[in-house]
Amino acid sequence: MDFFDKLADKVSVGTKKISRKTDELIEITELKLDLKKIEDEIEEAKLYIGEVVYKYFFSNNSNMPVGQIKGKCREIQRMEAQKNRIQTRLYRIKGLTYCRFCGEAIVYEENYCPKCGRKIVR
Ligand SMILES: [Zn+2]
Repeated sequence: MDFFDKLADKVSVGTKKISRKTDELIEITELKLDLKKIEDEIEEAKLYIGEVVYKYFFSNNSNMPVGQIKGKCREIQRMEAQKNRIQTRLYRIKGLTYCRFCGEAIVYEENYCPKCGRKIVR
């Protein structure tokens, strides 16, 4: 292999590394946007429940719209699960995981939580 072949080889490896880093950065940015969006949707759903309860307080209708509230709560539950999946993916890309017990962010290789000392469940 002559000098220029070696150089081309090194450049190609370097470019691959850079493009992988760039892909990661793009994915992190997208995940952060998704996270923000779902957090906003969760907040909105909670406000909606608040509105329903508040309107009930002033209405002469004596039955609280429980079905409506429960439906929204289930929606929030689904969004929370989705939020956790996005968060997990984000942590994984950054080389982090989190403690299921106390929520502490931990370097992925760790087996025990430095905060609460529990074993990391993967
Ligand atoms: Zn912990």
